[in-house]
Amino acid sequence: MEGDVHNHRMYPGVNCFFLEKGERGCTIYDSRPLDPCRNYRCVWLDEVDGIPAWLKPNLSDVIITRKLHGGASGIVSYYEVVEAGKKMDVSVLNWLVHWALDKKLNVVYTIDGRSHVLGDHDFLDLMKIKSV
Ligand code: SF4
Repeated sequence: MEGDVHNHRMYPGVNCFFLEKGERGCTIYDSRPLDPCRNYRCVWLDEVDGIPAWLKPNLSDVIITRKLHGGASGIVSYYEVVEAGKKMDVSVLNWLVHWALDKKLNVVYTIDGRSHVLGDHDFLDLMKIKSV
């Protein structure tokens, strides 16, 4: 998730100023703004098929977001996975790769600021073009 919360900027790799690690989570939950907080739905919260309970962002330190990319050949749907506060654990990465392969999903995941792409050939080509 990207955006400003009460003039504090956050983006992939930089956590929200109001996020506290552990059980507490958001320190201003009841008064969090509409945008980006209330409007945002992470994939874990939407109980997407195959997402386990342990992948909850405060347990796994990753956030999965469903995204759309519009190109010349139409709109492509994919999942974006970003680290939230610490380097992606190997168990998360292992699960992620199997999830993408088993369900034939398009996924972009970022580790240490470097993006990696899983998906079909069209999606790989699309992301190659996008990053040039
Ligand atoms: S819900 Fe809370 S922790 Fe999450 S982005 Fe909004 S203010 Fe930050």
